[in-house]
Parts: sequence; structure tokens; C-alpha cells
Amino acid sequence: MNDPFESRFPQIKIEDYQQFVGPQVVERVRAKMEKLQDIHITNISSTYYGGGVAELLSSVTLLMNSSGISTGWRILQGTSDFFGVTKKMHNALQGSTINLTDRKTSLYEEVIYENALRNHIRHDFVIVHDPQPLPIIRHYKKNGPWIWRCHLDLSSPNPILWDYLRPFVEMYDAVIVSIPEYLQKLNTPQFCFMPAIDPFTLKNRQLSEQEIQERLNHYNIPTDLPLVVQISRFDKFKDPEGVIEAFEIARKQVDATLVLLGAPATDDPEGAQLYEDILERRSERIIIMSQDDTALVNALQQKASVVLQKSIKEGFGLTVSEAMWKGTPVIGGNVGGIRYQIENGVNGYLVSSINEAAMRIVEILKNPDLRHRLGKNARKTVQEKFLLIRLFEQYLDLFNSFETIYRTKSEVAFHTNPLDKK
Ligand code: UDP
Repeated sequence: MNDPFESRFPQIKIEDYQQFVGPQVVERVRAKMEKLQDIHITNISSTYYGGGVAELLSSVTLLMNSSGISTGWRILQGTSDFFGVTKKMHNALQGSTINLTDRKTSLYEEVIYENALRNHIRHDFVIVHDPQPLPIIRHYKKNGPWIWRCHLDLSSPNPILWDYLRPFVEMYDAVIVSIPEYLQKLNTPQFCFMPAIDPFTLKNRQLSEQEIQERLNHYNIPTDLPLVVQISRFDKFKDPEGVIEAFEIARKQVDATLVLLGAPATDDPEGAQLYEDILERRSERIIIMSQDDTALVNALQQKASVVLQKSIKEGFGLTVSEAMWKGTPVIGGNVGGIRYQIENGVNGYLVSSINEAAMRIVEILKNPDLRHRLGKNARKTVQEKFLLIRLFEQYLDLFNSFETIYRTKSEVAFHTNPLDKK
């Protein structure tokens, strides 16, 4: 039966990517979808909005479904003290210290248990995202492979926390991290999938000059001077204070307006405090906003003369590819996944200090030819490496690699890691 909503709200299909990647890639991906038409997948994560995981999941799950692969997405229901604990774990997995008390682990495990009681999961594949829902696996009898997808910078996890979490991680059949530096010593097969952006969303599609201006006017963002922008949750690892300092140094040589935008996320209770603290740095030319407005993100990324992502830890940093896709050069912290997106001096700049960031801001703002060249290369990089179809194909390859073994062994219940037997 025809779905009347499909004509009103046409869903993006894999064929829509042909304009960016050509017909051969689309055909190759289509062939890989075929064997997966009768499977059922679910994802579990901690929030529907705010942050890169939600951004990715909303696009990946829709593309899976429009490709005939039934894919759901469940959210943890957590209290604010639960998310307080998991945010500390998030920070500690990225290297901070943590006082891992029994109270914290007990609260963590209890909330996960309650979520497991509410969620009946018998899917062919289960993908669990990040540390928040990690232990949920222990409450189920597996009906197929379970995959833990960690989006964080795992280059130096806090050892006490990692010792506590590792037994949960090793219950999974595969682990996916973003880049090779995050691979761990584990008994579980590991894969590297870099995140990617959806070029068709309101966040990433081309806006008209009028649409851009309308959004900026709505928030009284002046465009008389070049815009320097960072769009990120207010999180110490994103270094918003460092951005302000770099901007203040740069402004001694070139006039501009700084916009720091950060929408809140339900699983990040520290954000509100950091936002409050930083507000006192606001001035006529330093605009600091906490708004959840997707079109504004797009308008700023498109209009900016330069985007900063001056992180000191960054799992991947979707905001980098988002801005690069719009042909805007990005100055990124020389860390984590940002290094895989920016090639220094070719499509943007990598920086390791506030002074270096300031110097690059000045260089880009003073030199329109340089800005144009970097921006052009930036767009090309994203087209070649960071569009969602690439990530989608990696998922299909992973699912298919399990399926082969699963299917040939047919009736046998799934207990071990099929990839071990390759
Ligand atoms: N984002 C947004 N509004 C904001 C700040 C961030 O929509 O005010 C989005 C941003 O566009 C990106 C995601 O949140 O899609 C952030 O992902 P990233 O990987 O950069 O960082 P994370 O928050 O996951 O650490």
C-alpha cells in the first residue's frame, strides 16, 4: 500500500547520494542492502537531541529504514543524578579523574536495570552507543550480535573507570570507535568508523542568502563585520574560554564578531553551569547564545568567515565537517577526530594553542583568497570522505560479515563472536 506521507515528506534514499558520489558507489551500496532486507535492528542511546550521537542517529536510522532495513532507536530514561554520573564517566573516558564510588556505580547500574526491564529487545542486531547504556547488555539473552559504538576520545581513558567498564564492553560481539588511536586492548573485535554528515538535512542543505539573513536578524547577530563562530555544547573539552581568548588577541589586528552557540543536551548536566560562567565574557562583539535552532547552526556555518572547533579532546567533531561542507574554513584543535578531517594548510588549520588559533584567525580574515582556497578544499574533503553514505556502507559491511556466518550456521543460537572465526 502506498504511504500517503511519503509524497508529502519524501524520505532520503540511497539513490539521492548519486549526485555526490556517482552511480557506481550507489549501485555497490544497493547490492549490500539486499541481504539485509528482513533483519531488525535497534539502537540504544541516551538522548534524542543535543550532540553528535543524536545527530548521527536521526539520519542513519531514517536512511536504514528508507533502504528497507527496519531500524529503531531507543532512549534511556535517566534521572538528572544518573546523567550527572554518566557525564563524569564521559569525562573520565576522555582522560579526566573520577571518584568512582559505590554510590555512583550502584545508581548507574540500577537505572540501566530499570531501563532493561522496560525495553524488550530481541533484535537481530543491537547497537549501544557510548557509556551511558553500556551495561544494559547483561540483562538480555542475545538474539544476534550486540555492538558497542563508542563516540568518545578513548585515547587515554581513566584506568580505574576503564577497569570497571571493560567487563561490560567485552560482553559485546564488536566494538566500533571513531579512529585507530581509540582502539583498546580487548577480547572483542574492534572497528573504526568515522562519523559522517547528512547533506540533506536542514542543518546541512544550502540556504539562500535571504534565509541566512532572516535567521541572523532574528537573533540580532550583526553582519557588518566578518563572523568568527564556534558551535558546540558548553563543555570544557570544547574550550569555549580558549576561543574567546584567541578571538580577543586576534581582534587587536582585525575587526570581527565572535558567536559562540551551544544548544543544551539532556545528557549533559554540566553544560548549563559552564554557559552561566562564560556569559560574563559577553560584549558587543562577543555573542554567547544557548539556543536549540538547527537553521541558525546552518546559517552561522554558512555565513562565517571562519569556524573554530578549538577542542582539547574531541571524539570526532561533526561540527568540523558540517562547516567544511559549507565551504567555510575551520580552525580546529589538533586532537582526536579533528585531525582526520582537517589537513593543515590545505583545507583548514590545526592548532595547539590559543596564540596559534589567534594567528590563524587573523591570517584567514585578512586573506580572502586563502579563505576561498581552504573552503573549496574543505567542501571537497567532505564530499569524498564524510558523507553519510560512506558510514552507511561500513555498517552494511559489518552487518553482512556477521550475517554470513550466522546464516550458514542457521538454527544455531548466537553466542560467540562470529568475527573471531573469520
Ligand atoms: N549542535 C547543534 N546546536 C548547537 C550546538 C551543536 O545543533 O547549538 C550540533 C552540531 O551541529 C553537531 C552536534 O550538535 O551536529 C555536535 O556534534 P559533535 O560531534 O561536534 O560534538 P559532541 O556534542 O557530540 O561532542
